[in-house]
Amino acid sequence: MGAYVIDGRAFAAKLKSDVAKQVAILKGKHDLTPGLAVVLVGEDPASQVYVRNKKKSVVEAGMNSYAHQLEPDVSEAELLSLVNKLNNDPMVHGILVQLPLPGHINKAAVINAVSPQKDVDGFHVINSGLLANGEQGMVPCTPLGCLMLLQDRLGDMSGLQAVIVGRSNIVGKPMAQLLLNENCTVTIAHSRTRDLPSVVGRADIVVAAVGVPELVKGHWIKDSATVIDVGINRILNDDGTTRLVGDVEYTQALKHVAAITPVPGGVGPMTIAVLLKNTVTAACRQAGVNEPEIQTQ
Ligand code: NAP
Repeated sequence: MGAYVIDGRAFAAKLKSDVAKQVAILKGKHDLTPGLAVVLVGEDPASQVYVRNKKKSVVEAGMNSYAHQLEPDVSEAELLSLVNKLNNDPMVHGILVQLPLPGHINKAAVINAVSPQKDVDGFHVINSGLLANGEQGMVPCTPLGCLMLLQDRLGDMSGLQAVIVGRSNIVGKPMAQLLLNENCTVTIAHSRTRDLPSVVGRADIVVAAVGVPELVKGHWIKDSATVIDVGINRILNDDGTTRLVGDVEYTQALKHVAAITPVPGGVGPMTIAVLLKNTVTAACRQAGVNEPEIQTQ
């Protein structure tokens, strides 16, 4: 029997529509319009596309979008000064500094200059610490999106074996914390892990966040596993065109695992939807109002 294909696109569309309803309630009841500031340094084409998509989604959800485009040679001091200005702007509830930053800028200094309350990316060291302690903070968008897909599919995950391949600060580590908070037994694998196939083979939940096309082979994964593929890799076809593949060998895994996210159309669309959700959460916390509840179904 083939796997259930987890439709991240549909889930993200529903989440965006719920966020838009929340925004309408916040405007009507509390005169509160959540605002997201996005800072882009330089002209990296991929970053420009991401920023454009984020801005479009923010506006579609009825929120305010503040875009700041800085020259590639902007100094770190100038960038920090802008972040500080946004920290103090009451119209701005969320701040996102698009990564990667040019080499002359200290990434950690910029991430940690964002007010933790406005850190909708959840990358600030205070937010990492809060997540590690199981306390309320801002949670990084991609792993939170993965968690939502898993919760929707599996419900209670207590006691399940979760294997996360990848230990980055933006995906692997926060994903591990989130699944630990769900009472999973969590293993984090990385480039020094010995016998990756057998580590992956014991997982009830596999999250692959590596950045290596189809590294995780379908036959490594057990039949009852749910697979979340975070990887986005562009590879060259024989005819010179390109296509996107994940970090999991999708066609093989699809034949036998319980459920799997496709690439594209799985985790990818969730990231922007959760960014919108995080902006609403941040705005509500800053204004001291409850996040509006939206009835599902
Ligand atoms: P990253 O910072 O490069 O981290 C990659 C991780 O994979 C590292 O921990 C590395 O181990 C591990 N790794 C590399 N080669 C390995 C191997 N052969 N065996 C086992 N582990 C290995 O990447 P990232 O930022 O977490 O992103 C991972 C993937 O997710 C990328 O394809 C990226 O494009 C995608 N992504 C997607 C979204 C989305 O919105 N869907 C968001 C973010 C990222 P070491 O630590 O030992 O080096």
